[in-house]
Amino acid sequence: MTLDPTKHAGHHCGIHYTAEGSPHKSDMFSLLTANTHYAMLTYKMSLLQQAMMGLRMMRVMSVKRVLEEARASRALSIGVAVMKPNARGTIELTSANPHDKPHIQYHYLEDPFDRQRLRYGTRLMSSLLESEPFRKLGAEQISPTKEDMATDAALDKYAQEHLVTYFHMSSTCRMGPDSDPTTVVDQYCRVKGLENLRVVDTSIFPEVVRRCTNATAVMAGERAAAFFD
Ligand SMILES: Cc1cc2nc3c(=O)[nH]c(=O)nc-3n(C[C@H](O)[C@H](O)[C@H](O)COP(=O)(O)OP(=O)(O)OC[C@H]3O[C@@H](n4cnc5c(N)ncnc54)[C@H](O)[C@@H]3O)c2cc1C
Repeated sequence: MTLDPTKHAGHHCGIHYTAEGSPHKSDMFSLLTANTHYAMLTYKMSLLQQAMMGLRMMRVMSVKRVLEEARASRALSIGVAVMKPNARGTIELTSANPHDKPHIQYHYLEDPFDRQRLRYGTRLMSSLLESEPFRKLGAEQISPTKEDMATDAALDKYAQEHLVTYFHMSSTCRMGPDSDPTTVVDQYCRVKGLENLRVVDTSIFPEVVRRCTNATAVMAGERAAAFFD
């Protein structure tokens, strides 16, 4: 199924669902999108910006994925995301200089249940392509291949090679009760143990939200602003 970016760029829709055996309701999200890298690069940026962004993206892609992008960059894509991962990342300062970038370790794919859920979502989306409405559209699965889907190990390898992030980093400075030693700010966003310091951003979320983080960050800002009225 090939898309014309002049007609389809920017069209996408998402579905929330619960992975089999998951204790978290609606922990998965799949985004079906015609907003391919090709369309994004071509229609929203200058030529130089396109080249720079293309290079930056390729730096973090596996060779397999770069080749797939070259071969089928205008194909419809379906992302599969675990929105309530078990994995917990870390962020560490690398020096006392605030301008030095910290070291962030996501620990993606290290948790067996996260990998299981990704496999579940990938297989579910693949079965969607087999459905009558998609068949009528002439949909054909390009990637992952039958070999990639054959075993759990092969699918895990595929996930490793195609992994991207939704940039929903949060909860490094969690809000919570004093009884929880892992929390940093109280319910008024005040940093515990310090005076006159509040933190208001995605870092205070007690845990990551299931949906995109931006609106919740804005909500936190609006709420905290009211503390000063
Ligand atoms: C590429 C990308 C795509 C995303 N897409 C989506 C999306 O489609 N939908 C969605 O909901 N979310 C999306 N997100 C996530 C969302 O943007 C973030 O979760 C959200 O912006 C976080 O808000 P924040 O206030 O915590 O931090 P930020 O938005 O990062 O705000 C931090 C601010 O602090 C400023 N700052 C930093 N250091 C200093 C300093 N020393 N002094 C003064 N100011 C400083 C920065 O300039 C910045 O303005 C995306 C994120 C990325 C990176």
